[in-house]
Amino acid sequence: MYLTRDAMSDAMGVDQLRLESELRVLTEIAKTLTSPLELPELLDAVLHKIAEVLEPAEAGTIMLWDPSGGLFRTVASFGFEREALQRIGIQAGESISGKVYDSGKILLLENTQAVAQAMGDLRQANRLFLHQAMRKDSPPQSCLAVPLQVEGHKFGVLVLFTLHKPTAFAYHDLPFVQSLADLIALAIDRASLQARADAVRQAHLEEHMRSEVMAALSHQLRMPLSAIKGYASAMLLPELNWSDAKRSEFLGLIDEECDSMETLIADMLDSALIDVGQLKVERQPIRLPRLATEIANEMQHRTELHDLLVDFPTDFPLVEADPHWVKQVFRNVLDNAIKYSPEGGLIVIRGEARLTDILISVADQGLGISPEDLIPLFEKYFRAKYHNGYHISGTGLGLPIARAIVEAHGGRIWADSKLGEGTTVYFTLPLQLSLSQEAA
Ligand code: ADP
Repeated sequence: MYLTRDAMSDAMGVDQLRLESELRVLTEIAKTLTSPLELPELLDAVLHKIAEVLEPAEAGTIMLWDPSGGLFRTVASFGFEREALQRIGIQAGESISGKVYDSGKILLLENTQAVAQAMGDLRQANRLFLHQAMRKDSPPQSCLAVPLQVEGHKFGVLVLFTLHKPTAFAYHDLPFVQSLADLIALAIDRASLQARADAVRQAHLEEHMRSEVMAALSHQLRMPLSAIKGYASAMLLPELNWSDAKRSEFLGLIDEECDSMETLIADMLDSALIDVGQLKVERQPIRLPRLATEIANEMQHRTELHDLLVDFPTDFPLVEADPHWVKQVFRNVLDNAIKYSPEGGLIVIRGEARLTDILISVADQGLGISPEDLIPLFEKYFRAKYHNGYHISGTGLGLPIARAIVEAHGGRIWADSKLGEGTTVYFTLPLQLSLSQEAA
């Protein structure tokens, strides 16, 4: 039966002791709800507190309405086999949660028959998952379901069950459970407001960074282009008779400027591909020591200030990965190691085989990164500010691209650094243990 709040107050035939303990629990729960935990953990913690104090509550779930999927989904639970419970998706109006959400009123089902009747329209798949979650076939003994809402904003339903015990939920439980539900709804409201505010802030930030990067990119593309145009026009001037040495110097400079434009454009294209979810990984067995040496040689040609050293153990295993993308990770990380050590130094590319993955590190002796800049380092468009007069051009896309590639392979990427001493970027790639060492 559905009950109004007035009907609930009439039902408050509870003694002083009970009231005091409920008040204590409500205060404890209110405290939990303001702790800095993420919402699902917070709701789990609250449900476990409910289980401790509310005798008939042997199992419970908080189901929230997911508008994108058009279903209620479990976000927190206790007393159930969680995996099965999480597979349940309740439609609008379906079963206990659907009806309580629609009516906006608390529902007390005092016996097995009442519960079975309210769940009569539960769809077959959901029924199956619920049986698995309860580890029994017969319906629960009693149930208390409360809508989670704040000022007309509906979020979902708190559903509590008695599965086996002879004790069942009764009228005197209602005010307490309603107060709990109000607290939970407030916490959900606060979290969703926070999430919306964060999303708006993030969107603004990204938009701002995007326009800054676009401006920087146009500038960076124009610089090599003007240089190329300058050298080419000069060589074409009929009145100037350039020597072969001068021509070849100009051609060398044009070649260099083309390389830098190519890197920039490749970064922009890769980033656009990743944005539209087009990063396709085609795995094949690759020899990382060979691949790392190839890229290191390519990079060494671009610098006389640095010494690049590749250090892999001789029995380094084959790794299943996409060579095109892994090369891109090495290029981006090595490009930074060179760029951000403007005074030169040693750059060591090291490989280590571990039990389930391989670990690559690229260590430089450059400017380093402050601890607070290490946190957003792999975020798109992030660029650290250097206060020692260095102006190093870049887009803030190299590391996010590297991260997207490594993660698409099932690996991780991170950095360690000391300002003024140097940076080490690490990344892992999972090992396919079944892979034969003899492969290609
Ligand atoms: P970009 O180099 O184009 O700015 P990245 O995404 O490759 O973009 O790098 C982001 C930022 O991280 C850089 O702007 C730089 O401040 C910092 N960074 C990356 N690698 C290094 C490094 N090896 N040493 C010092 N700073 C680095």
